[in-house]
Amino acid sequence: MTQASVLEGLIQRQVSRRDFLKFCSSMAAALMLPRTAVGKIAMQLEAPKRTPLVWLEFQDCAGNSEAFLRSSKPTAAEIVLDILSVDYHETIMAAAGFQAEDAKKKAVETGGYLLVVEGSIPTDEGGVHCTIGGRTAMDILKEAASNAIAVVAIGSCAAFGGLPAASPNPTGAKAVMDLVTDKPVVNMPGCPCNAVNLTALVVHFLSFGSLPELDAHKRPLFAYGARIHDNCPRRGHFDAGEFVLAWGDEGHRKGWCLYKMGCKGPITFHNCPAVGYNDNTSWPIKAGHGCIGCSEIGFWDFGLYNTASLQSFAPPTTYSPVQPAVETMPPTNAALLGGLAGLAIGAAGAAAVMQLSKKDADAKPAASDEQK
Ligand code: SF4
Repeated sequence: MTQASVLEGLIQRQVSRRDFLKFCSSMAAALMLPRTAVGKIAMQLEAPKRTPLVWLEFQDCAGNSEAFLRSSKPTAAEIVLDILSVDYHETIMAAAGFQAEDAKKKAVETGGYLLVVEGSIPTDEGGVHCTIGGRTAMDILKEAASNAIAVVAIGSCAAFGGLPAASPNPTGAKAVMDLVTDKPVVNMPGCPCNAVNLTALVVHFLSFGSLPELDAHKRPLFAYGARIHDNCPRRGHFDAGEFVLAWGDEGHRKGWCLYKMGCKGPITFHNCPAVGYNDNTSWPIKAGHGCIGCSEIGFWDFGLYNTASLQSFAPPTTYSPVQPAVETMPPTNAALLGGLAGLAIGAAGAAAVMQLSKKDADAKPAASDEQK
C-alpha cells in the first residue's frame, strides 16, 4: 500500500472531513482524554505514515479478527488498520503457504512493527499442540516478538490464556505476557476484544508515539479502569434490592439487576457500559444477560451462573459489607444495621442489603414490587 493518512483514506471512501473530526473526537473520548487532545489526534492521523503490523493467531477462534473487521460499513477503524499496513495476518491476507511465510520473514527482519497476537500459546510437550508450517507457536512468537516495537495481546486467550487455559488446561496454554518478557506487552482482553478499544489503542500509538497507561494486569486504564457494576444502567435495581430470579420472570421483563443470575459485573473491569459492542448497538447486560467477566483472568472457570463474591473486590467506602453476616442476624439488629446503612448510603442501599441476605427461594419480584 502507498503511504496514506487516515484522512486520505476517508476521502477516498467519501467520508467527509466533518466525520473524520467526529471520529477523532470519539477516539479522544474513548481514550478518556480532554477535548484539547482532538486537535493533536487529527494532526497526527492526517500525516502520512506507515506503521507495519504483524498479526499472529495461535489457539484462538479468530473472533477478535472478526470483531474488528466485520463492521456493518467501512469505518474509520478499518482505515486505521489500512494505514497500519498489515504485512501479515493469516485470516485476511491473500497470500498462502510459502508466500505468506516469506511476507512474515521479511517483516520480522525489517523490524519496527506492532505485533498483535490472538490466541493462547500451548507449552506442554514442547508446544506440539499448535504448529504452523512445522514450527511451534512458542517458536513463532519468540521470533516475531524479537524485533517488534510492542506486543498487543488481543482477546482473553492471548491476554490471560482464555478458554484453552480453562481447567484442566490440557495443552499447558499460556498468555503472551508469560512468554514475552523483554518487550512492552499490552493486554486487550475481552471475548472478543471490543473493536473500539483496539482502535483507540492504535490511535493513541499513532498520535502520541507511546502506549497508554496500564493497570496491574497490563490492561489500558482507558478501557479497563472502571468496574462494570459502577457504571451499569441496572445498578439502581441492585441498590434497591430488585433482582432477576429466573429467565423471563417479572424482574427480567422489567430490566432488574442480574446479580443473582450470575452477573460478574461487580468483579469485572471493562468499559462496556460506555462503548457497547457492534457500533454500540448493545452489550450483554443491555441484552438481558449477566456479564460473564470476559476481561478478567480465569473467567472461564468462574462458573457462568455462580454469583460473584462481593467480598472479593474492594468495595466503595459507601458500600455496605453485610451480605454474609445478615443471614444469622436477629431482626432487631438487622433493622438497626439497615438504619445505619440507610444513614450512610441511603434507603436504597439498605434495601439491597436485605434482599441479598434472603434465600432466593423466599425472594420474589412481587415482594420488591411492594416496596415501590
Ligand atoms: S450485578 Fe450486574 S446487572 Fe446488577 S448492577 Fe451490577 S453489573 Fe449491573
